[in-house]
Amino acid sequence: MLERARTLDAADPLATYRERFAVPDGVIYLDGNSLGCLPRATPERMQQVMRGEWGEGLIRSWNDADWIGLPQRIGGKIAPLIGAEPHEVIAADSVSVNLFKLISAALAMRPGRKTVLSEPGNFPTDLYMIEGLEKQGLATQRLAERGRIAEALDEDVALLLLTHAHYKTGEVFDMAALTGAAHAAGALVLWDLSHSGGALPVELNECEADFAVGCGYKYLNGGPGAPAYAFVAERHHDAVQQPLSGWMGHARPFAFTDDYAPAPGVDRLLCGTAPILAMAALEVGVDLIAEIGIEPLYAKSQKLSEFFRQCLAEREVELGLVSPSDPTQRGSQLSFRHEHAHAISQALIARGVIGDFRDPDILRLGFAPAYLRFEDMAEAARHLAEVLESDEWQRDEFRKRAAVT
Ligand SMILES: *Cc1c(COP(=O)(O)O)cnc(C)c1O
Repeated sequence: MLERARTLDAADPLATYRERFAVPDGVIYLDGNSLGCLPRATPERMQQVMRGEWGEGLIRSWNDADWIGLPQRIGGKIAPLIGAEPHEVIAADSVSVNLFKLISAALAMRPGRKTVLSEPGNFPTDLYMIEGLEKQGLATQRLAERGRIAEALDEDVALLLLTHAHYKTGEVFDMAALTGAAHAAGALVLWDLSHSGGALPVELNECEADFAVGCGYKYLNGGPGAPAYAFVAERHHDAVQQPLSGWMGHARPFAFTDDYAPAPGVDRLLCGTAPILAMAALEVGVDLIAEIGIEPLYAKSQKLSEFFRQCLAEREVELGLVSPSDPTQRGSQLSFRHEHAHAISQALIARGVIGDFRDPDILRLGFAPAYLRFEDMAEAARHLAEVLESDEWQRDEFRKRAAVT
């Protein structure tokens, strides 16, 4: 198996990109969908920004180093990864905050409608942000199971909010079909691309999506808590009004006027001053992913996960697959159900195989295609088989739960 893996690695057109990441020795990192690896170029870039642009350049760097243009510049580089035009995407804030802005904006664009439709089990922050607006009296949350979403779209629905690739199962929604169904019902659509952007191709404009948000610290390798991004289709640029009307989203922030006038286009999604250090780190990750290109990344991601499943099958590991077995129907991950998923995940981590556990019984393994090798798949499958065959995972130390899982 290891030999076959090495043959696949030798033929892998993306093999050399692994060196561009600081993957720790002795670690098989299957959690790039939670926190992407550090690009090797990032620390040097941070030094440059801190010592040169900040230390020496000081306030001048807003212009000289174009700090002021970073949100748009990074957004423009993310755009081709998600099927958008550069002027439709901006890097800003967190996914949660961008959800708040865009859910609010969508509600304002559909007067007389208050319902925001989503699915139970969506990523918690998506539902919590709807709930927050509900408590303000601005929204009504409605949840419909997958498969019943189309029929839950009626004349009360202002917005359909869905996560494209599900964080737990990896299941991918048919973006074109659901966007079309929502539009037919007069609703707008907001896609959360946190588990898609940088891992699988997304065609926001081809699908006629209205809005999208996505995460900078997962497949884009922007670093812990990296800024997120937001997309507004060009046709909505004049209509979008978001409630976090901070000065950086003003048409002329440096005119210092008393009245708010929204900037044109996606710039009005900005609120306060961008975290430049975090933005600089994000840009390195985005540059690297954009350089590799989304199609080759997606092709490799499917091959990796399918090879991992073959390795498990050859070792006769029987684990209930929660993710779709068809690789075109899932994101870059495989999730398995096991009563003792938490302890198994801890036992794997102790062996250097870092995946994660999702409550209550899911072992989630992410396959970030930019830096993983087929060899890692073979080895991870071996470790998983050994953990399951032995009683290793039953050790007390693996039963404890940490604050962050
Ligand atoms: C990771 C993730 C987020 C992250 O939200 P933040 O506010 O940026 O922490 C949001 N939505 C989904 C679906 C995610 O997977």
